[in-house]
Amino acid sequence: MAILWPTGAADQIQPGEALRRALRYAVALAEAGAGLLALRADGAGSAAGPLSDEGRLIAWGINLDAARRIVTQLALDAAPEPLDGRPRVMAAGDIWAGEIATMPLADAGGVVGEVSFLGATGFSARRSLVDPERRRALLGMLVAAVRSHQQASRLQQENRQLGSILHFSGDGIITVDEGLRITGFNPAMEAMTSWRQHEVIGRFSYEVVRLHTPQGAPIGLDRDPLAQVIATGKPILDRELLLLARDGQRVNVTVTATAAAAATGQQVSAVMNVRDITRSRETEEMRTTFISVTSHELQTPISIIKGYASTLAREDTQLDPDATRERLRAIEEEADRLSHMVGNLLYASRIQAGGLKMERTEVDLAAIARSVARRMMARSPEVDIRVRMPTSLPLVLADRERIEEVLMNLLDNAIKYSPRGARIRVHGQITGDEVIVSVIDAGQGIPLREQERIFERFQRVDNAASRRTQGAGLGLYICRAIVEAHGGRIWVNSELGRGSSFSFSLPREERAAAPLVIFGAAGDADQNDATHATYATRGALAADALLAGRE
Ligand code: ADP
Repeated sequence: MAILWPTGAADQIQPGEALRRALRYAVALAEAGAGLLALRADGAGSAAGPLSDEGRLIAWGINLDAARRIVTQLALDAAPEPLDGRPRVMAAGDIWAGEIATMPLADAGGVVGEVSFLGATGFSARRSLVDPERRRALLGMLVAAVRSHQQASRLQQENRQLGSILHFSGDGIITVDEGLRITGFNPAMEAMTSWRQHEVIGRFSYEVVRLHTPQGAPIGLDRDPLAQVIATGKPILDRELLLLARDGQRVNVTVTATAAAAATGQQVSAVMNVRDITRSRETEEMRTTFISVTSHELQTPISIIKGYASTLAREDTQLDPDATRERLRAIEEEADRLSHMVGNLLYASRIQAGGLKMERTEVDLAAIARSVARRMMARSPEVDIRVRMPTSLPLVLADRERIEEVLMNLLDNAIKYSPRGARIRVHGQITGDEVIVSVIDAGQGIPLREQERIFERFQRVDNAASRRTQGAGLGLYICRAIVEAHGGRIWVNSELGRGSSFSFSLPREERAAAPLVIFGAAGDADQNDATHATYATRGALAADALLAGRE
C-alpha cells in the first residue's frame, strides 16, 4: 500500500542498520570473528525463555549461513535455565574449527534476545567475555541498541498507520510547518482543491487552500486558521468557511485546525482538517425547500378543490346545472394540476435517487409536438400554439413519453409566463448532428443572471409573475435531466419584456449514442457533464450493462 504522506525522519531510521552497527562493534569488543543476534519476536522481552523460530536473527561476520544454522538450533534447544550470565560455549566442530559463545540479552524489562559470538577455538576464554565488568558493558551496549531498535520500529509502524489513516480519511487533511509551508496533503484534500500533492508540498498553505467567509469574502492571513493556530497555539474548532478550489469551484467546509507537536519526528507544526459540507448543506436546504414548496404549492389546489366540493355537497346549495358544471370543471382542473405537481415531485426524486429508465424508440418530433400542442389547446381554449416543423424532420431515437413531458413542461411555462391568449410557437430545426425544437413565447422574459439557475431544482425567478403563478421550480430541472439523458442539450434565449425561447436538441437517429438512465445529482452541473462524458464514450452494450446493474 502506497502511503502518500511525505516521509518524515522516522521513516528514514533504518532500525536494522543501527543494530547491525552495534553488533559489529560488539564483535570487535568480544574479539570474535562473527556475531549473531536473535531477538524475541514479540519484542517485549517480558520473560526469559527459549527463542522461538519467530525470533529474528541479525548477523554480522563470517560464514554466516553455517553460524545461523547452529545458533538457530541453539536457540531452539536452549532450556529456560537461569543463566549465570556466563557465555554458553559450544564447539562448532563439524562446521569449522571454532566455538560459539551464546549469552542472553536482558535488562530490567526482561529478556530481549540472545547474542552469539563465533570465533576461533579458545576465543571465549579471553578477558572480554570472561571479565564480568567487560561482559556487562558489552551486553549492556547491545541491549540498549536492541531497545532503541524496538522503539524506532514501533515509531515507524505508528507512522505508517498514521500515514494510511491520513491517506484514506474522507476529510481533507493538510499539515504545515511553522512558516505555513505545506508538509502534507491527503487525497481528500486533493479532491477538494483540485491541487495534487506533489504540486503543493513546500508551497504556502494560503496559496492552495483559499478560504473565504461563508458569504464569499476572502478571510485574509490574519484570520487564516493555520496562521492563527501557529501564532496563538489555540485550536480552532469547526469554523464554517468557503473554500475556493483551483478551478474556481466553491466548496462549503468546516475546518478544525490544531497545533501539532513534532512527536513523530515529522516537520509538522499545524494540522487542519477540512470537511466538505456542501452535500449535507444541500440536503438540508433541499429538505427545507421541499417542505415549503410542497406545503405551499400543493395546498393551493387542495384548498380550491375542498372549497368547491364542500359547496357542492351542502344541502342548502342551490346551483343551476351550468354553475355546477363550472365548479366541477374547476375541481377537475385543480386535480390535474395537483397530479402534474405530484408527478414532477416524483420525477425529481427518481432523478435524485439515481435511475430513470429511458425506453427509446424511433420518434417523430414533429408529430409529438403537434399532438402535445393539440392536447394543451383542448385543455385551455384561450391558448394559441402554432407548430412549424421542417418537412423532412429526421427521426430521433428517444423515449416518447419523456420527450412529451419535456414539451409539456416548456409549453406549460410559456403559457404561465405570457399574457393570457398570447401566441406561442413551436419550431423545429435540423443541424448536421441534431434536431432542435424551440418553444417560443412573447412573455415577460427572464433576466440574464437567472437563465442558468432556472434549470436547477426548486429555482424560480423571484418576480411578480412567479409569485402569482403556481410552480415548484421543478419543470426545467426535469426537462434538463431528460434531454441530457438522451445526449442532448437544453438552453434558453430570453430578453426581459420581449419573451423567451427554450430550445432542446436531440442527436439524430443515426448518431444517437447509447445512454439511457438519468443518474442522480443532476442538479450539479459538473457531475452531469461527467456522467455524460462517460456515456458518450460507452457503447450500447456498456449502457445496457449499466442499466441492468441499476435496476
Ligand atoms: P415552475 O414553472 O414550476 O416554477 P420551472 O422549473 O418550469 O418551474 O421554471 C423555473 C422558473 O423559470 C419559473 O419559476 C420562472 O420564473 C422561469 N421561467 C420558466 N419558463 C419561463 C418562460 N417561458 N418565461 C419566463 N420565465 C420562465
